[in-house]
Order: sequence, then C-alpha cells, then structure tokens
Amino acid sequence: MNINRRLLLGTGAAAAATALGQLRPKRAQAEIRSKQSGSVVNLYTSRHYDTDEELYNSFERITGISINRIEAGADELIERIKAEGDNSPADILMTVDAGRLWRADQEGIFTPVSSSTLEEKIPSYLRHPEGHWFGFSKRARVIMYNKDVVDPSELSTYEALVDSQWQGRILIRSSSNIYNLSLAGSLIEAHGVPETEAWATGMVENMAREPEGNDTAQIRAAAAGLGDIAIANTYYLARIMKSDAEEDQEVADKMRVFFPNQEGRGTHVNISGAGVVASSPRKEAAIQFLEYLASPIAQVFFAQGNNEYPVVEGTALDPVVASFGSFKEDTVSASVFGENNSEALQMYDRAGWQ
Ligand code: FE
Repeated sequence: MNINRRLLLGTGAAAAATALGQLRPKRAQAEIRSKQSGSVVNLYTSRHYDTDEELYNSFERITGISINRIEAGADELIERIKAEGDNSPADILMTVDAGRLWRADQEGIFTPVSSSTLEEKIPSYLRHPEGHWFGFSKRARVIMYNKDVVDPSELSTYEALVDSQWQGRILIRSSSNIYNLSLAGSLIEAHGVPETEAWATGMVENMAREPEGNDTAQIRAAAAGLGDIAIANTYYLARIMKSDAEEDQEVADKMRVFFPNQEGRGTHVNISGAGVVASSPRKEAAIQFLEYLASPIAQVFFAQGNNEYPVVEGTALDPVVASFGSFKEDTVSASVFGENNSEALQMYDRAGWQ
C-alpha cells in the first residue's frame, strides 16, 4: 500500500480550509476580535505535533486570542504548575492520555468547566463527569498483525492473546507506559484485578521478547519477523504508512490493523484532552479555546494532525485512518483509566511484566 503523503496532507488542508470558510462570517469575526484584542492564552501541552501549528493559528484568526505554547512531558508540566502555585501563568493543561489528565486532576490542577457546547459535542465517557477535563481526540489501542504469518480470523480479543497459540509471538512495550496502564485500567474495570493479573501473566508468557522501545518499535519488530503481532495505537502505523521512506513502506506493506473485542465491549480507546487550570486568570478565554477544539475545523486539525479519531460525530477521518475501517469502541468512562492506574501498575509488577 503506497499512499502519497503530500496528496493526503493536501486533502486534510482542503477539508480544513472549507470548514474554516464556513466558520468565519466576516462581521462576527471582526466583533470578536475587537473584544479580545491582544489576548493570550498560555497552553501547557505534552502534544508536540508540527501539524498542530495550524490549529492554533486558526484560533487566533477567529478570535484574536493567540496561543502561547509551553511544551514538555505531562509529568513535567504537572510538576511545573504545582511549583508555580497560584502565580502559574498556565491557563490550560493538555495531555495525550486520560491517565495523565486524571493524575493532574488528583493534584487539584483543574477547575470544573460547565459548557453546554462541550457537553453536547463530546460524549460523556470521553470527559470528566464534572468538567475537569475533556477529550478532543481518540486513540485506539489495537492488535497489529504481520499479514504474512497471521490470518486475522485467528484474532478476536485482548483476552484471547494469552492462548498458547500466541506463545513467543507478541510484541508490546513496557508496563510502566501510560498507554498500557490505561489498557489495564480498562481490563480491570471489565474483569477485576485478579482476572486482569492472570491475563498480564499470560501476556508475559507469550511475549516474543522482553518489552523494549515504543509503539513504533513494536510495529517495526513485527514487520521484521521478531514477533508476529504488535500492540500499538493506530496513529503510529498511520504515520509509517504516510512516510515516503522505503523501509517504512516495507513495514506498511506487511502490517495490518485488527480491532479487538468487536463482539463484546469494543476496542480500548484513550484520549488526548485538556482542562482549564484552577489558578488561570483568563478562564473565559481558556473555555473559548476548549470550545473551539470541539468545533468542526479544529476537530479536523486536532484529529488529523496526529492521525487520530475525532470525538465529535460527523468529523471527516484522515484517509489513511479511514482505511483501517470502522470499529466498535469501548465506551467505559475514560476516567476509570486513571482511577485504576496504581492498581494496574502493581498488578503488572506482580505479573512480572517489565
Ligand atoms: Fe503516542
């Protein structure tokens, strides 16, 4: 499958430009700008995608409010906001995992936001029940298989990966990784700790190697024959598929996506999301930015910028992401991933998952 990257980027930009045109009646735009002239919102974010640039520029064009980005890892940003205390310039904290949003919330970083726009557009399972944070894109954690050695009819659920037929064939990263902690959080919610621990033990037995590297490394390893299936978020494969590099095209040729648990609760989805910082002196503008993130144009930029799934129904999918097919997702509340986080970590330790 050789998909031209420039062509795809062009498609995304065109869709966004169309959405932008629909959103910007000239008179309304001028009015908002005069009210907000010179405003800045400080966004502390662990998203670091170049493609997000257009997302922020478009907000500035619409509202006159510019976005000042402070980028770092989520844990670093949480520590920084805590250290800055009431004087923190942070207005919004954005992360790429529900588990980290939950951690930030535990530290008292977020203030509740009541917004009918956000409540109507974002399904309740993808946001905090009291509006402390909201998901703006979804990331599916799936089974990817090497089509040369695995028939998709052999695959079914996360749970079935502990069957002996997968012995020595599974590639997955370390258990301390937040994506795996959130996956375990969803399994604990579905089955309880003892059963999830038995699953983790079975997974360790079936691993092709000790966990090493990130999601991309698992996909590459499966394509190279170091194992047969990889557990990874879909956007990592989409990124490889869009690469012009020959070695990436070889990986893209071999690897396919399987959405697990389609007969049951659905595939595990995580979120990239954000909330308004409690000490923010610019809460109104901060909420305006969150509402913008749920708008049609921002949903296109936000989701397509990292090959993720939009949270607002009716938003167009990136063509490569769409090529994976549609799927049923687990609609358990994203807040349980964080709530089950420490139990998940201890459970993985007991199971010997490095
Ligand atoms: Fe990631």
